[in-house]
Amino acid sequence: MVRIKRGFKLRSTVNALVLLTVLATLTISSFIAYRSEKQSLIRMTFQLNQVYTEKISETVNSLFDNMKQSLAVTGEYLATDLTRPDLHEQLLLFQRSNPSFNTVFIIDRNGSLVDASNAEPSNIGTKITSAGTQQALKEQRPLVSEPYMSKATNKLIVMVSQPLKDAKGTYLGFIGGSIRLHETNIFQTVLGSVPDQANGSYAYVVSSSGHLLYHPDPSRIGEDGSHNTVVRSLMAGESGTRRIVNTKGVDMLTSYSYIKEAGWGIVAQTPTEIVLTSARNLVMKIVIYMLPALLVFIAIIYWFVGKMSAPFSKLAQFASMLSPNQSGRDRLPRIHSWNYEANELHRAFGRAARHFRFQFDNLSKEAQTDPLTGLYNRRTLDQFIRHWIEQSIPFSMMVMDLDHFKQVNDTYGHEKGDEVLKFLSVSLQRLVGEGYVCCRFGGEEFVVLVPNEELDVALQDAEKIRRYMSETDSPTDNKVTLSIGVAHYPSVAHNAEQLFRLADEAMYRAKRLGRNRVEFAKGSEFEERTS
Ligand code: GH3
Ligand code: MG
Ligand code: MG
Repeated sequence: MVRIKRGFKLRSTVNALVLLTVLATLTISSFIAYRSEKQSLIRMTFQLNQVYTEKISETVNSLFDNMKQSLAVTGEYLATDLTRPDLHEQLLLFQRSNPSFNTVFIIDRNGSLVDASNAEPSNIGTKITSAGTQQALKEQRPLVSEPYMSKATNKLIVMVSQPLKDAKGTYLGFIGGSIRLHETNIFQTVLGSVPDQANGSYAYVVSSSGHLLYHPDPSRIGEDGSHNTVVRSLMAGESGTRRIVNTKGVDMLTSYSYIKEAGWGIVAQTPTEIVLTSARNLVMKIVIYMLPALLVFIAIIYWFVGKMSAPFSKLAQFASMLSPNQSGRDRLPRIHSWNYEANELHRAFGRAARHFRFQFDNLSKEAQTDPLTGLYNRRTLDQFIRHWIEQSIPFSMMVMDLDHFKQVNDTYGHEKGDEVLKFLSVSLQRLVGEGYVCCRFGGEEFVVLVPNEELDVALQDAEKIRRYMSETDSPTDNKVTLSIGVAHYPSVAHNAEQLFRLADEAMYRAKRLGRNRVEFAKGSEFEERTS
């Protein structure tokens, strides 16, 4: 019979639960670690960029201050006489000692070039109409211009200028210094130190009109960036931090600071992905560090659960074998457990199995034996006969009947009669050999099965029984005799029915021939009866 297994085993279930718990804990803690790490990294990046832009902003501010002051001092000195012969040398000297400027020049109030550090003699006196010049002449105050294309050099520049006035305060023009944005300049020197450039961080500078004054990609210098929200904030004079998507569609963590002196703005930004990647890497590292410990933990739990569930498995296996057929005869498994429930169950199982076995034994004994004599009953006899025939075991059957038993009852009473029956039973069991089957067939008729090839063995046993009874006092203090008929299977009878009939007939023959004797069925007799 195929047994259907119902449900999951305790060990598998607990192990699955533990594994699930560990995985869930790992996932949740990784997720939380990732989130908090991400947030703190973003915050840190903002702060780092902010500190950087503020520092640069201060540096550039003081740089402009210095430039303006140097221009003011030199301008004041030169304004005393713009026609001096060493004007050109003075400008050259000034430019060399202020390398922030690519060129230094003086323009009179009409916009004509008085002199420049890089001027050809032919250029002196030419009218300069560039945007920076126009602005300076118009506003007549210290100025940092918007970036513009210098007509003289055809280069994108910004101009720092200082008005020139004579002793009476009359406006004479201005002294200016230009910074070429596309060439090596002061911004590159200052901005070259963007923190963590390797991770994709970069900085750029915008003018008050939103044009790029410095950008790590030189082709973008001069570009209008005013569509960018950060640039707009800078144009409005604001500083701060923001997460934005840049013109190339890259998510960026941006910090920006306004440079008050020039009205410019500086922006430093780091790709958000870099921060997220490092947060992910960190979480991966945590998971990798935790993994061996978790595996050891799982192994310990696995071992522990195995130990803990083993008694239950053994008991379950034992319980599954407690069927009526097996009668709980299998030994209760030994268990060594520190688990209270397992030990209690084990004890209860022991009690239940003993009880079960006891009941089974009693029930089967009742069903198999005769209550008065304790010999097998007729039903059990039939089972033995069927079994032996099936197994082709040769055997003889003795059918025996007490002689004149009615008289025993009549003379000594029914109870004495019962005692005689018990006496016969005890005698039979004592007289027959091992493996014989003694049965009370009914009333005062008994059957004994003799497992042997030879009929003679059974005849000798029958004779022994007969003689013993005829020579021994029964509980009535008198002898009680037996008439016995014997038949052999398979030499005389070929089936159980024939065997019984022939043995019974032999017993009746013994009665007829005077009782207290043994008769047996012969082959010829069988032939005669069936022919
Ligand atoms: P015989 O067999 O020699 O021909 O004579 P008999 O007197 O033994 O005759 P029969 O076998 O027909 O009688 C059987 C008697 O056995 C009848 C009955 O009173 C008695 N008997 C049957 N069963 C029991 C029993 O369980 N206890 C007692 N005490 N007597 C029983
Ligand atoms: Mg009888
Ligand atoms: Mg009788």
